[in-house]
Amino acid sequence: MQYTVEIDQELCTGCHRCIDVCPVGAIGGPAGMAADINYDKCCFCGQCVQICSAYQEYKSETSAPRETKMKDRGLLASVREPLFAAHNMGHAQKVWEAINNPNVVTMVQCAPAVRVGLAEDFGVASGELVAGKMITALRKLGFDRVYDTNFTADLTIMEEGSELIKRIQENGVLPMFTSCCPAWVKYVEQEHFELHENLSTCKSPQQMAGALFKTYGAQVDKLEPKKIVSVSVMPCTAKKFEASRPEMNASGSQDVDLVLTTRELANLIKHAGIDFKSLKPSQPDSVLGTYTGAGHIFGVTGGVMEAALRTGYELITGNPLDDINILDVRHSQGVKRATLQVGDLAVKTVVVAGLENAAPIIDEIKNGTADFHFVEVMACPQGCISGGGQPKVLLETER
Ligand code: SF4
Repeated sequence: MQYTVEIDQELCTGCHRCIDVCPVGAIGGPAGMAADINYDKCCFCGQCVQICSAYQEYKSETSAPRETKMKDRGLLASVREPLFAAHNMGHAQKVWEAINNPNVVTMVQCAPAVRVGLAEDFGVASGELVAGKMITALRKLGFDRVYDTNFTADLTIMEEGSELIKRIQENGVLPMFTSCCPAWVKYVEQEHFELHENLSTCKSPQQMAGALFKTYGAQVDKLEPKKIVSVSVMPCTAKKFEASRPEMNASGSQDVDLVLTTRELANLIKHAGIDFKSLKPSQPDSVLGTYTGAGHIFGVTGGVMEAALRTGYELITGNPLDDINILDVRHSQGVKRATLQVGDLAVKTVVVAGLENAAPIIDEIKNGTADFHFVEVMACPQGCISGGGQPKVLLETER
């Protein structure tokens, strides 16, 4: 197993804020001493990485230990950024090597939440959508094909909506759990294995895209699949773990070779000397870069549920919803329950934001009192927008 999140024992100051935010109780340590991760419990959500404020400043003079640490973490040492104790293993160095290797073809996908978070690293207003500039930056970096995870978010919705309806109509295992959050999937597997069949059989959008790049994408470009380096950009540290799972090789080799976090993409853009703010927006490549609004809302809590319900509604009734915004399932934190009338059936749903909030829902299922059909769980407190790979929001206030 790849440990995609680590705590640097030299840099940790023992403040233990990471212990407070870990949703699965995987971090511990004696008072005032460096914290450590129990990997039997860790789900790699990276909330410890996001909250960590113990850092070593960048120093303009030659700083050999810092440079060594940057390289050990897979980052490009040229970039002036602090090193934090809690960190994720990076792929920026390997991606830089791949895009400068004339013997391979690089194909990249970006998750919905990346285009919202990336702005913060370049002094653009927090939350501003920079999708077009991000696409241009990826081309300038040298990626050969710039596709979009939203394309396969749409596929996931079609598959997951159909699977839900089939399970309801054919007495399949219910409630069905969403399977797009790898931290949630890992949590179910290691803590509640008896419920693993409740997980949807659909791969996450990241993994569907990776498999498509090396199969359909290879056909489109008349390429040998083995020449393709498939890269994803995610708001998420757990996606690195997901990509490394041994079963994720439907194309014949690892479907997603390298996973960058939003922070790492910013690291690469700075390393390449690209002036992000002045970039002109552009569009992703066709056809694996096209998508609908349903794919786009994957980045918000309740978005997967909302999109799948829209599909399920149309599949059962034969008509699209009058109002496609199912606001009852959207929310930012905690647990929200909602019911949607689909033909004769009242589909009961639960949307959970923050893995620690899943426990009571699991208890209801285990003690037989659950009456719902579909459960969405996103491990991070506000879904992927607050993922462990997003720009660190506390940095400025803590300096
Ligand atoms: Fe990753 Fe999103 Fe799950 Fe957080 S909520 S672990 S960012 S997939």
